[in-house]
Amino acid sequence: MAAKIIDGKAIASKMRAAIKAESADLRAKEIIPGLAVVLVGDDPASRVYVSMKEKACTECGIFSDEYKLPAETSEADLLAVIEKLNDDPQIDGILVQLPLPKHINENNILEAILPAKDVDGFHPYNVGRLVTGNPLFRPCTPYGVMKMLEETGVDLNGKNVVVVGRSNIVGKPVALMCLAAHATVTICHSRTLDLPAKVADADIVIAAVGIPAMVKGDWIKEGAVVIDVGVNRVGDKKLVGDVDFEAASKRASAITPVPGGVGPMTITMLLFNTLESAKRRANG
Ligand code: NDP
Repeated sequence: MAAKIIDGKAIASKMRAAIKAESADLRAKEIIPGLAVVLVGDDPASRVYVSMKEKACTECGIFSDEYKLPAETSEADLLAVIEKLNDDPQIDGILVQLPLPKHINENNILEAILPAKDVDGFHPYNVGRLVTGNPLFRPCTPYGVMKMLEETGVDLNGKNVVVVGRSNIVGKPVALMCLAAHATVTICHSRTLDLPAKVADADIVIAAVGIPAMVKGDWIKEGAVVIDVGVNRVGDKKLVGDVDFEAASKRASAITPVPGGVGPMTITMLLFNTLESAKRRANG
């Protein structure tokens, strides 16, 4: 069976068009959705991500306010910036680009962001709301995975989902979202015994490991849906996922490519969350 390719670019572009339209509606009511992006230091990858986020905001009619702070910024100074943004009525979402320099405690910063502006969904309040099944903001990458499954027509109710990876930004939240959609969820990690057997039981496999092609094609059950969150650079330019795409696509019914799969969804969901926040502001 040749798998259907789940086109993340197309899904993201459709969602961005809808976000742009809704954002124009809000602007007509004089509510301009606003996202503050805070970057500390000059990590080249972070700079690229931040400029991609700004460009996407502009394209979708979201005002983006950028704070580029020097690497030696103290934790207290960064907290003061967050406090100012928390109080700024024009700002609906605050994103602090991670990783932060070593001398700054990441948890202190993430916890200082007002949960109602935490469009990344990393504040413990938002994590707690996700756990209790009453989410306010969902983290962007896993939320993007859920939108892709929805757009592909995958009904999770009663299905076996295997998530490989248990990070706070992908593995754990995506597992919770699948659970909320009534799937039976298994979370695997580096100590999991007999990973191939666990994956072989899955109707839906979600890989978020960070190791090129570690999920092998012959582990995949015939007809399973495969979502590959992994982004791994091999050699100078080539990007590959965590799943052996060539082999897995011969057994899966649908699969995401890398690049062009989950990647484009992450920023889209950031825009989506910012818009949701602005809509809440508009509704008082
Ligand atoms: P982390 O490094 O935080 O987590 C990796 C997870 O994989 C850990 O839970 C680890 O287990 C598990 N793992 C490592 N080795 C194995 C193994 N041999 N068998 C089973 N599990 C294993 O990664 P992230 O969650 O942050 O990211 C995962 C991938 O997704 C990366 O490639 C990253 O680049 C990509 N990514 C892509 C995004 C996008 O927008 N498309 C956004 C975020 C991430 P343990 O906990 O035991 O150590």
